[in-house]
Amino acid sequence: MLANEERIAETIAAESGKPLAEGRGEVRYGAGFLEWAAEEARRVYGETIPASRPDQRILVLRQPVGVTAAITPWNFPLAMLTRKLGPALAVGCTQVIKPANETPLTAILLCELAIEAGVPDGVLNLVTGAGPVVGPALLADPRVRKLSFTGSTEVGQELVRLSATNLTRLSLELGGHAPVVILDDADLGVAVEQAVRAKFRNNGQSCIAANRFYVARPIYHEFAEAFTNAVEKLSVGSWDMDADVGPLIDDRAVVKVQRHVDTAVEAGASLLCGGSPTDLGPGKSGRFFQPTVLSDVTDDMVISTEETFGPVAGLSPFDDDDEAVRRANDSPYGLAAYVFGRDLSRVLRTVERLDYGVIGVNDGVPSTAQAPFGGMKMSGMGREGGHFVMEQYLETKYVSLAIDPVGT
Ligand code: NAP
Repeated sequence: MLANEERIAETIAAESGKPLAEGRGEVRYGAGFLEWAAEEARRVYGETIPASRPDQRILVLRQPVGVTAAITPWNFPLAMLTRKLGPALAVGCTQVIKPANETPLTAILLCELAIEAGVPDGVLNLVTGAGPVVGPALLADPRVRKLSFTGSTEVGQELVRLSATNLTRLSLELGGHAPVVILDDADLGVAVEQAVRAKFRNNGQSCIAANRFYVARPIYHEFAEAFTNAVEKLSVGSWDMDADVGPLIDDRAVVKVQRHVDTAVEAGASLLCGGSPTDLGPGKSGRFFQPTVLSDVTDDMVISTEETFGPVAGLSPFDDDDEAVRRANDSPYGLAAYVFGRDLSRVLRTVERLDYGVIGVNDGVPSTAQAPFGGMKMSGMGREGGHFVMEQYLETKYVSLAIDPVGT
């Protein structure tokens, strides 16, 4: 993959619309999952446990679960696959992958490279097609012992129901609605720079994308001004234009993002920048949306409860830390949250009270191959990444070995 970085990056960018630079970043990020899992495979240890009987020995074996499956979304066409494929192959499982309909080409290219690299026949298997057909077929087949899914919460819930038939193991990486808490002692330069990354990477189409910005009242206006200035500088363009931000994935996404902006403005929010699609001229689709900042957003607005999955940031002031934590936690989702502040004790107390699986402290891009990634509440079950994911692809087999207690 690394030797073919440019080819894969162009495929990712061309089919998903993300800027080429982000495509390149995804190749390195995606390769990291394979590398980490391959290294971690050396540490899939069994155990021996001291027995209470002199004629017994206790062995614990770790063995691959067998055939596994992966269903992935379009927003990270490569990395969401390798995050599942790496640990599966590393511990000795096979995998059937089903990429999103919007972005099958990256998965096909990955399979071609796997063949070139010598992955044996039958180990990595690709099925393209409609999720509502392929998903149920995978879960109806008793040979499939584990399915890892990344996508929407609604589809995740359906897969849980279907998994009952064969008690297929599931791990679910689902939707999010990430809060950003900016405490009054935050370094404003860091907060602005990292908040822009947390919000606008992949044009806001990331499960850990910042959605709600709670800013301490004493620095609210200063932050809003600096953040808006930074957002206004973001360039919008197609994947080959060296822009900061690409298009939205489809027309439905444009309608949804516009609805989040319009309903907020109608309910009293102020538009600080952006707010509508931008026309890039002939030959360019109407799916380019201006990076948008809203202020005076309240908790009852649609944007405060529904995942936007687009380039809109809604700002809201808060008066004390308890209020910020309460409002940040007031969501059915629990994937990612962000905290900005300088007083470590205060930051840590805030982190400990947030019901989120991934928390970036003064850091807008926390995902990395070696860390556990996953959500609480309606954002999913299980963790991927690091040594945490290996367990999901392993069976634990306990062997009670009766031996001659006397010995010679
Ligand atoms: P989606 O509709 O759930 O689609 C994701 C995948 O599921 C696609 O491959 C899709 O196939 C398949 N699918 C659709 N219906 C299915 C069914 N009934 N049974 C089995 N598979 C089915 O998700 P999306 O809206 O495209 O993706 C965005 C969502 O993914 C967001 O909510 C985002 O937060 C979440 N996400 C989460 C993470 C995470 O790690 N937590 C990471 C990235 C994205 P088709 O393409 O054929 O429909």
